[in-house]
Amino acid sequence: MTDYHAPTRDMQFVIDEIAGLDSLASLPGFEEATPDLVEAVLEQAGVFASEVFSPLNQAGDHHGTHIENGAVVSPPGYAEAYRQFVDNGWQGIGKSTAIDGQGLPFLVHSAVAEMWYSANMAFALCPLLTSGAIEAIETHAPKNLQDLYLPHMISGEWSGTMNLTEPQAGTDLAAIKTRAERDGDHYRIRGQKIYITWGEHEMSDNIVHLVLARLPDAPAGVKGISLFLVPKFLANADGSRGARNDLKVVSVETKMGIHSSPTCVMSYGDGDGAIGFLLGEENNGLACMFTMMNNARLEVGMQGVAISERAYQGAVAFAKERVQGIARGHSERSTIIHHPDVRRMLMQMRAITEAGRALAYYASAQTDRAHHSPSATQRETHQRRVDLIIPIVKGWCTEMAQEATYLGVQIHGGMGFVEETGAAQHMRDARILTIYEGTTGIQALDLMGRKMLRDKGRAMGNLIAEMKEFAQELAAAGGDIATLAPRFAGALAALEDATGWYLAQAAEDPDLGSAVGVDFMMLAGNVVCAWLMGRAALAAQRYIDAGSNDRFYRHKIDTARFFVERILPRSEAQLLMVKAGSASVMAIDADVF
Ligand SMILES: Cc1cc2nc3c(=O)[nH]c(=O)nc-3n(C[C@H](O)[C@H](O)[C@H](O)COP(=O)(O)OP(=O)(O)OC[C@H]3O[C@@H](n4cnc5c(N)ncnc54)[C@H](O)[C@@H]3O)c2cc1C
Repeated sequence: MTDYHAPTRDMQFVIDEIAGLDSLASLPGFEEATPDLVEAVLEQAGVFASEVFSPLNQAGDHHGTHIENGAVVSPPGYAEAYRQFVDNGWQGIGKSTAIDGQGLPFLVHSAVAEMWYSANMAFALCPLLTSGAIEAIETHAPKNLQDLYLPHMISGEWSGTMNLTEPQAGTDLAAIKTRAERDGDHYRIRGQKIYITWGEHEMSDNIVHLVLARLPDAPAGVKGISLFLVPKFLANADGSRGARNDLKVVSVETKMGIHSSPTCVMSYGDGDGAIGFLLGEENNGLACMFTMMNNARLEVGMQGVAISERAYQGAVAFAKERVQGIARGHSERSTIIHHPDVRRMLMQMRAITEAGRALAYYASAQTDRAHHSPSATQRETHQRRVDLIIPIVKGWCTEMAQEATYLGVQIHGGMGFVEETGAAQHMRDARILTIYEGTTGIQALDLMGRKMLRDKGRAMGNLIAEMKEFAQELAAAGGDIATLAPRFAGALAALEDATGWYLAQAAEDPDLGSAVGVDFMMLAGNVVCAWLMGRAALAAQRYIDAGSNDRFYRHKIDTARFFVERILPRSEAQLLMVKAGSASVMAIDADVF
């Protein structure tokens, strides 16, 4: 497998030019986030990802995880790497100083996390889930629980999980059966959860499970679900690790990818009942869990970018070494990177990755603005943008990661199909991304329903208006960049048309949002990515105009142009598919299939 090199140059550029680190650093609470500090953090994270996490990626894939004497055995080297991760304080970098985090913007956390996911996605799921659990506990737990559990989690000594899924309750969480009964100041939890990522392991000293369960007198459906903190070991009053709780891992799944991440069947309360503590209010658990899920959806989108980046790096290295055929202009057999079709595939991977990075970092910076802007109106405006864009980040970046990792295999030819190069692992690992944290179909339903119909298209209308202003700026630009303008304007018009058409038709056709949602979401993703890539191109041009002859800027413009010429035209077809409506999708009766 090719070594992973952290792409800090593009990250830094996107952080500065698209996400706007300068203006973020002027917000209250982010005074520490100076450009020098952020650059140093990215450098160090890049070294850690490349030298500690990455070398374990392929070996971890081969080894996988299994259960021995009731404990999950992780691949060799994992526990030591996790210890170094904790010792270096990486878990708390994006968390607020009020809970002993380092107080850096979520944007910086996202860039650092991208490197963890590129280096070893299966491993980095553990800190991802801890991070989400910290956020849910910080927001919804009473102070005494926060004091007992958060310090250990911020340090990474105790990890976290998210327990929603049960055999009969996957997408449909209304069907959850795990029970919670009041027992003095706590609850007793009984039931089985499946597919729990890093549900059991020995890398951290304790595991804090966040579990959705139902009280005996709870109303039916999603309005009767509560959220509980259920630790593997209870915390003593002084915060130290106390008695073992009544929960255990039953088995770990054998699966297609992310082999070194244990996907656990967990059993709660086989004896006296697992002790759990309520987060938020009774029967309001799903809303509380959404605090964690929104964060996790953005992070899973980031995983899509990260795995695309790693697949791209592997494909570039291979294409520069593999000799086949005589490329035009060469007198002898040449490396395959000189063949236009291979270049097409590499450019496709590069454009997908850079566009996804721009989208995910933009969303991360909007999250920071939604939390830290001085006025309530500003915070609300940014939050509306975040809410609109998160299903697009999750849906678009993870679907496009399938394409990037597929092309990574293709560029390797037969060597892509055998496991040695690692290209196959990227494709297998990437496959989960469109499934967990809500499938692509569910992201699309969220976008079409909650994020568009519920606010009558206001948030999307604001985004389109902002992109229209940019379209004019693009058209006014000179040189190569001006050539991007007509295609961008055309795709933006397609998005506006699709939005208006959908909002007008949705009431007439109850199947519409589900039938065309994914096409609409991919259309929106393409246009928003083209907007951000266009902004990147304009920023790069400003450096060139100021006298820079750094090839990075030229290539940023070239990649934006490729995106607009070779990926954005899908928008026209997507508009047609959206406007075809649900009729042909639903025409054939279910029993005929
Ligand atoms: C490796 C792995 C790790 C995981 N980690 C965790 C974890 O840590 N914690 C946790 O709680 N869960 C976890 N999950 C569970 C994951 O979130 C679910 O698998 C996912 O939400 C889908 O649920 P399901 O598998 O039951 O599929 P189903 O819900 O049965 O869906 C099957 C298909 O039907 C579609 N579908 C279902 N309902 C609708 C609808 N209403 N409208 C349109 N289409 C619909 C889906 O989009 C999908 O294509 C993990 C799963 C895996 C495989």
